[in-house]
Amino acid sequence: MSVIATPLPILSDNYAWLLRDTSSGAVAVVDPADARAVIEAVKREGGRLDLILLTHHHDDHIAGTDEVRARFGCKVVGAAADAYRLPPLDQAVREGDTVALGQAIGRVIDTPGHTRGHISYYFPDGGVLICADTLFSLGCGKLLEGTAEEMFSSLQKFSLLPGETLVCCGHEYTESNARFALSVDPDNTALQARAAEVKRLRAEGKPTVPSTIASELAANPFIRATDAEMLGRLRAKKDVFR
Ligand code: ZN
Ligand code: FE
Repeated sequence: MSVIATPLPILSDNYAWLLRDTSSGAVAVVDPADARAVIEAVKREGGRLDLILLTHHHDDHIAGTDEVRARFGCKVVGAAADAYRLPPLDQAVREGDTVALGQAIGRVIDTPGHTRGHISYYFPDGGVLICADTLFSLGCGKLLEGTAEEMFSSLQKFSLLPGETLVCCGHEYTESNARFALSVDPDNTALQARAAEVKRLRAEGKPTVPSTIASELAANPFIRATDAEMLGRLRAKKDVFR
């Protein structure tokens, strides 16, 4: 019994994620912002869609939701705190709530920072973390609504997950994140190795994600920040980094 996560590149640099519970065959899609691309992908995978999982209210994550729901008649899950600015929800969730994908159970983690109502989903079976715009590979989301303190505590929650947990984030930002990360932590050999791997993957036109919690803990300066102040300083620096 396990959840398999597959990245689906959509829009310019977003990832929707297809999640399949191997024991029941149930399928979910995370953040289906491009309805046509998601519908085509679901059809390719057998035409079954049980669930839409939403992480936060930004258009590049929710835009296709109503169309995909209408096409497959699936349920939509999102943050109760943000229900007023999300598409209509069939299940409104908070920290610690669970979401059933067939036999697999996902736990909801409250992860404010990028937005106030940003949530993440963790499926222990398969070790899948859906973290959208909170944690990126080698980076973290911009603090558009939340504070450095909130982002710090959100990233701390992720750092407690098993090292092999798959980090399924919302954007392909890894190559530019690597440039910034190397500018602030040039002697980190794990980061140097990851940056080289990322360069090769992108040159081959492949996604750099999912990464793992262990890899991020070794190479990502944002999840490695030791306090909120340090995280805030890094994030401000990254905001103006070219
Ligand atoms: Zn966003
Ligand atoms: Fe986004």
